[in-house]
Amino acid sequence: MNFKYIFGPIISRRLGVSLGIDLLPNGVCTFDCIYCERGSRAELNIERKEYIPTKKVIKELDRFLKRKPKLDYITFSGSGEPTLHSKIDKIVGFLKQNYPEYKIALLTNASLFTDKRILERIKKIDLIVPSLDAVLESTFQTINRPVFSLSINDIINGLINLDKNYVGETWLEIFIIPGVNDTEKEIKTFKKVIDKINPQRIQLNTLDRPGVENWIQPATMKKLNQIATALGDKVEVVGKLKPRRKQKLKNKVI
Ligand code: SF4
Repeated sequence: MNFKYIFGPIISRRLGVSLGIDLLPNGVCTFDCIYCERGSRAELNIERKEYIPTKKVIKELDRFLKRKPKLDYITFSGSGEPTLHSKIDKIVGFLKQNYPEYKIALLTNASLFTDKRILERIKKIDLIVPSLDAVLESTFQTINRPVFSLSINDIINGLINLDKNYVGETWLEIFIIPGVNDTEKEIKTFKKVIDKINPQRIQLNTLDRPGVENWIQPATMKKLNQIATALGDKVEVVGKLKPRRKQKLKNKVI
């Protein structure tokens, strides 16, 4: 079957068997992260609009889900920041009404959580996985290279507000880049910020596939475990996929 806006199901390191929805086919994003796996610089944009037709996404989902596949999550992810799509709530509403047996997840960089309308649009999603790679402004600019109007303090406040208005789960993801966001000062500040955001889980991640900048190295397991200990008992280190599971993943692609 040919699909344009959905992909997989894939075996995700964090979410199990996940059907992906890509709402930004051209990789439009509010960030241009140095570790982005797309391998080229993102198209920076902060405009919220219907980047791809909502009706077509819903049609593809309907076609695929009618077969009643076994899934752990249907996940907004893909090649850009999903909350830039102004009709994401319509797609969530369709899934909740027609396929309530499936859980919905959102992978996001949280950059638009400063906007209360965005929090309203995503409030029925079961699991939100925001990334937070920096808590100091200079590190944020180095790693995430955001649209100029975004600041890390505003994003952190947006994440704190999410917890006040949302009944689903939040798993915070931190991508560790040795020599950039693993200093003692940064980790201590991460701990304070995480306590305020209050997610259910925190996942530490590091480079698995080459990013945009080729000087980035993965953190060692020893370093990741040290940081996990410093950040508290909600933290887990996300491991790499074993080759056999990667093989299974290949076979699962639609
Ligand atoms: S937020 Fe995600 S999609 Fe956007 S540039 Fe960063 S890694 Fe790439």
